[in-house]
Amino acid sequence: MKADKIIKNAKIFTADRSNPSASALAVKDGKFVYVGDEAGLSAYEGDVTDLQGKFIMPGIIDSHVHVTIPVGFEYADVGERIEPNGKQDALDIMAKYIKENPGEKRYKFLLEKVFLNGEDIVKEELDAICPDAELQIQEGEGHSVWVNSKILEKHGITDDTLDPIPGLAIYVRKDGHVTGNCIEGAAEIPIVLDSSMELSDEQVDAALQRWIDFSVEYGVCAVFDAGLPGDAKFHEKVYKRLAELDRQGKLPVYIDGSLVINAERDAGEGLEEVKRYHREYDTEHLKVHTMKIFMDGTQKIHTAAMVTPYADIGTTGATAFSAEGIAELLKNLNAAGLDLHLHTVGERASRTVLDGFEMAQKELGDSLKVRVTCAHLEIQDDADLDRFAKLGVIANYTPWWHGENIEDSAVWLGEERSRKQYRCKTLWDSGALVAWSTDNITFEDFTTWNPYLGMEVGMTRVRNEKTRIQEYNRTAAVTPPEDEKMGIEEMLLGFTINGARQLGIEAAKGSITAGKDADFLVFDNDLLTADKEGFSYNKPKDVYFCGKKMN
Ligand SMILES: [Zn+2]
Repeated sequence: MKADKIIKNAKIFTADRSNPSASALAVKDGKFVYVGDEAGLSAYEGDVTDLQGKFIMPGIIDSHVHVTIPVGFEYADVGERIEPNGKQDALDIMAKYIKENPGEKRYKFLLEKVFLNGEDIVKEELDAICPDAELQIQEGEGHSVWVNSKILEKHGITDDTLDPIPGLAIYVRKDGHVTGNCIEGAAEIPIVLDSSMELSDEQVDAALQRWIDFSVEYGVCAVFDAGLPGDAKFHEKVYKRLAELDRQGKLPVYIDGSLVINAERDAGEGLEEVKRYHREYDTEHLKVHTMKIFMDGTQKIHTAAMVTPYADIGTTGATAFSAEGIAELLKNLNAAGLDLHLHTVGERASRTVLDGFEMAQKELGDSLKVRVTCAHLEIQDDADLDRFAKLGVIANYTPWWHGENIEDSAVWLGEERSRKQYRCKTLWDSGALVAWSTDNITFEDFTTWNPYLGMEVGMTRVRNEKTRIQEYNRTAAVTPPEDEKMGIEEMLLGFTINGARQLGIEAAKGSITAGKDADFLVFDNDLLTADKEGFSYNKPKDVYFCGKKMN
């Protein structure tokens, strides 16, 4: 048989359990037609490359990223990063900036809550330093924002405004009055991205192109896009452009898209919207068959939903859906042939999903086909660890977080519980399907989008001076539990075939197997024996997407 490309003398990690390693492969019409030893190549003729022992693996599948949010952030200036010592210092720094830069319509600052030393800011204090213009302060990754009265007025937020999701997406109130602190779905996108929604097609394309270039450079061949909460219109605008780029042959990354539904009360309407996306966004490399739900928020601002209450404030946080709500939703998704992906950081968030899945399974038995993925899984209750494998719920971790400094979380989790986070190895060994992702919301410099960073930290549970990461993200010690460190093969499988199974594309992608798309990466060095520390500096030499060399 004539082949378009033949490779021999390679060390191939196939991610295919029935044929784990090989030394030769052949590609025809964008697909692998042969994977095996060199003797088997005699049936193929064509251009032969001798790779002299170089390492080959399948294209990376990143099973939880955000493609549409960063397009907005590309054009939304989030503002000056400030690192004050307490609240008064923060107010002084901002007041000084405003005084020195008069005449702006909106002043924007970026502030990590830890710099407030436990104090909180209220709108009256912001009004005092900025009475005539808009003032917003985004917390860290944008799960929370403080704004002054000007912005509340602009968005029509008053003491009578209902919280989008009681207990989770809220306008913080004191004595019945909104304080200007808006949390989770009440905050981030509508306010932070306020100015970016009227982008031209060219602006959207330019932002996407930066991400596409990164993906090609690092060998990311497929992703799950975990959506954009709060602005479905902007999200759809980006999907329209992605579909158009794909039609023009300019999308060398497979995108498994989703649509975010905020609250249980929106589930019915949301389901119809996901069905519509499923019909309308269906080009060769862009598909949508998944509903995305933020079940909870983050630990840092105590919106992650817990089973055991937070040690410092005694509350547990709330989930967006009840277990019954998840069960009901699963029945409807099942009937529509759609899947479900959930942001589940805290113990109660994943437990509620597992409970809901169990209820639906009791009723539907084997006819329940919905692929359910719990993403982020920072902390899980001991009693839930073996339920993923039992129920068949997919566990998605973001391993570059697994080197997190636990000194902060010890404050709210307590010493013992803070030492039991990111227990991915336990789930893997229990037989659960575990996939890895990088979860990012800006195209800043792509450092943390780098899948080899996730692999490094997943293996070492530390981010030190050998790690390719910004200095402020480094941690000094190994994050416990030490025995949750993963091996290199597990990292590679979780970034390839397991991701494909989560996305539902395992018949076409995820391993180097005859009949599948020829997405593969060539490295000068052998990743299986590479040093774990500094693994984040690895990068493929050649990247093939559907048989075509892209770089
Ligand atoms: Zn995410």
